[in-house]
Amino acid sequence: MSALLAVRDLGKRFSDGRRALDGVSLDVHAGEVVALVGESGSGKSTLARVVCGLVPADEGQVLIAGQRLRRAGTRVQMVFQDPFASLNPVHTVEHHLLRPLARRLRQPAAALRAEAARLLAAVGLEASLAARHPHALSGGQRQRVAIARALAAGPEVILADEPTSMLDVSTRLGVLTLLRRLADERRLGILFITHDLASAAAIADRVLTMYAGRVVESGATATVLGAPSHPYTRLLLASAPRGERILPRASSPSSLSSPSRSAASSRAFAAAAAAGCPFVARCPDALPCCPDTPPANRTIAADHHVRCHLYQEGASEHAALS
Ligand code: SF4
Repeated sequence: MSALLAVRDLGKRFSDGRRALDGVSLDVHAGEVVALVGESGSGKSTLARVVCGLVPADEGQVLIAGQRLRRAGTRVQMVFQDPFASLNPVHTVEHHLLRPLARRLRQPAAALRAEAARLLAAVGLEASLAARHPHALSGGQRQRVAIARALAAGPEVILADEPTSMLDVSTRLGVLTLLRRLADERRLGILFITHDLASAAAIADRVLTMYAGRVVESGATATVLGAPSHPYTRLLLASAPRGERILPRASSPSSLSSPSRSAASSRAFAAAAAAGCPFVARCPDALPCCPDTPPANRTIAADHHVRCHLYQEGASEHAALS
């Protein structure tokens, strides 16, 4: 089955020349939720903006149902992190929905209003909220309006960039459940960007771990979060807040805030990382080749891919020499 969203070798550089995205490829199928996890600065949100067409790519391409996406349009819609900033305070809820509906459907006002009411129901909101302004809504209600607005454009793919990180814990689960249901019922492809592994585990079919602008591990959610292979994924899991660990933690990774190496050696590794693995300064399992040689992406099991020298041929001999 071909992917609804196919990202191929996407590259993007910061203005100072550093790579924000480095050869990112991924697939999202119809009806699938794919979680992109990683720390702040790993490139997740940059990827979303490039995929959505808000920022141009320097390399690579984005395909929607096999067709190259050249600029922002209605086929891919974003749901942003901040539901307070993403809605215009001077417009009613209904106004936010009517504009994209009018562009897409070109129907009489009464029909558009009826469709707006259906969208509100689809995201779990009462029709009476249509006349309200954003300030009269809770955070969870605003994020549901933002999702309804995205749906109003008739997208095939939704990019949800940390859509629950500004919501109360009590309302997060409802929004997550809504995204999962929309993927199932409407056969949307959803790329769910989050630093919250528990949220990823709750709704994602597959998980991709991103570090320094590269996807370093990908596979089924149960595989990546239940038995992670890349040292960075193991570290993320070990650093999840207590009570939010949703799957068994992996063995002996270093802490996110306490790299296992001294500051001096970290700087040396960081300098070398431009040539080799960018995670080398923080990796508890680094091999002698890691500072100088970039790891290739390797398939280690069906639908499980890891970019790490530990899984290259001959890695065990390297480890024995170190
Ligand atoms: Fe660690 Fe080397 Fe793997 Fe990078 S390639 S994650 S430094 S073992």
